[in-house]
Amino acid sequence: MKTIYADNASSTRIADEVINAMMPYLKDKFANPSSYHSAGREVRLAVEEARRQIASVIACDSDEIYFTSGGTESDNWAIKGAARLCAAKGKHVITSKIEHHAVLRSVKALEREGFEITYLETDEYGFISPESLEKAIRPDTVLVSVMFANNETGAIQPIEKLAKTAKKHGILFHTDAVQAFGHIPINVKELDIDLLSFSGHKFNGPKGIGGLYIKRGVSLPVLIDGGNQENGRRGGTENAPAAIGMGEAARLAAKDMALQKERLELLRDRLIGGLAEKIPECIINTPPRNALPGIVNVSIGVAEGEALVLMLDLKGIFASSGSACMSGSKDPSHVLTAMGRDEKTAHGAVRFSFDRYTSQEDIDTILAVFPETVNKIRSVTRL
Ligand SMILES: *Cc1c(COP(=O)(O)O)cnc(C)c1O
Repeated sequence: MKTIYADNASSTRIADEVINAMMPYLKDKFANPSSYHSAGREVRLAVEEARRQIASVIACDSDEIYFTSGGTESDNWAIKGAARLCAAKGKHVITSKIEHHAVLRSVKALEREGFEITYLETDEYGFISPESLEKAIRPDTVLVSVMFANNETGAIQPIEKLAKTAKKHGILFHTDAVQAFGHIPINVKELDIDLLSFSGHKFNGPKGIGGLYIKRGVSLPVLIDGGNQENGRRGGTENAPAAIGMGEAARLAAKDMALQKERLELLRDRLIGGLAEKIPECIINTPPRNALPGIVNVSIGVAEGEALVLMLDLKGIFASSGSACMSGSKDPSHVLTAMGRDEKTAHGAVRFSFDRYTSQEDIDTILAVFPETVNKIRSVTRL
């Protein structure tokens, strides 16, 4: 059976170009990038080239990019590090209700250290308003962390206005850009961002590698004591093959971004239009504008998202009922709940997410199979 992978917000296929770029560094070019001999220096050059390729995706300098093990580590470092850095000034942190659990649980950890957390609400489309941020800011606020784009619905937040609101008050601004990086244009200087998290496997790079943009001058505390790697802020021998792979993924993403964005937006709108037509009572949770090119989130009132995902799986279609990290949990999506969806709607969501390997044929197969699946469940539940 031909399968369709429509769960790219959880993880993407590693590009062949990325594997090819990594392979020499998994085999012959294995030297430690910190070694002084020429074998080591050759690896060092490739790691630094990867850093430059990544920096150019968000228009920063390469010495502002720090490699980590992924999005989760970057979020932990940025949030706990920035809050502790500024703790003498104040112990109030602002985030939103729709963040990834890497952020939500990092601020929870801060709460146990005596920080107070304010969670911003969203409107019905899942957007956070700069006015609500302005109102939440207090004299003791030291950090604002709001995600660039949401991993469940695809809603792109008004990051420039949010960041400028924080900066106006002299407050550090972090954004979890794991879903946005490599998919939509980002310029950290124009947007006035201090800290930005990203992850290799969300843009056709390898898993277990990601990074944090730390604006020059922000002296985030050391994450891992050890050698002088990553400017002495994260010790340990670099994962050179993965960093080089992520660099190649960044190059590919930047090269094809405009093309892929336009192509995926058409596919996304084709799926949304088709679903609305074939399942008239469905609720599209992806906002009609300011959304990522490759995410469609839809709620069907007839069954739990997880049941729908399993039925799609039997037909060879791999989708998700929200975020992969929280599957198995019985709670409805915290993102859809924050958007004001009732429990049935928040429980009944399915997310389809696409990437450079998704074709129009894939979309049309989903449009043929999914409504049929929904009707089947409906006829059973009506018996
Ligand atoms: C996937 C994801 C993460 C976690 O990234 P990992 O590299 O898997 O740790 C964090 N935030 C968002 C928005 C994500 O989609």
